Amino acid sequence: MAAVRAVLALGGNLGDRKANIRSAIRALKETEGIKVVKKSPLVESFAVTAAGVDQSRPNYLNGVVEIDTELKPGALLDVVRAIEKDHGRIRLERWGSRTLDIDIITYGSLIKDGKRLTLPHPRAFERAFVTVPWSLMNPDAVLPGHGSVAALAAEVRDQVWVVK
Ligand code: ADP
Ligand code: MG
Repeated sequence: MAAVRAVLALGGNLGDRKANIRSAIRALKETEGIKVVKKSPLVESFAVTAAGVDQSRPNYLNGVVEIDTELKPGALLDVVRAIEKDHGRIRLERWGSRTLDIDIITYGSLIKDGKRLTLPHPRAFERAFVTVPWSLMNPDAVLPGHGSVAALAAEVRDQVWVVK
């Protein structure tokens, strides 16, 4: 199978956030069938829950990576969930604080709405912590169904800040 270009989003708000993201990227690199092509800068943002911004929770740190993968979408989801688990993620509540969340944002130009996997990720277009780092990594990126990632990012740019 020819490699497919995919975009993954990584982030968390518990523990050593930067170390968790770095270690997850290392785990991706070590996975057979995945090549990490590009990494975005990391951005920080306030926690958001169903009720809105919640500054009583720790801030999030997020980034995205571009990969080339020979894995099918379902197998890629298995890999990212295993990496989340290795980083101490436990699933308690939706919107809950977490050490590490990895979402598949796009998988080539695939559009799919399945039980385990929706592609592109249905909320990526409105998430500053996805579109801003993604557009900084790749100013020409396009999110299937939504167009220019840079244009999406421009709308929500003030919701995140780049960290060194
Ligand atoms: P969230 O990322 O929305 O905070 P979770 O990480 O707990 O929530 O993911 C919930 C479920 O979303 C996962 O078990 C997975 O099966 C499903 N899912 C659907 N589409 C995607 C996608 N594109 N990337 C990652 N997970 C997805
Ligand atoms: Mg997730």
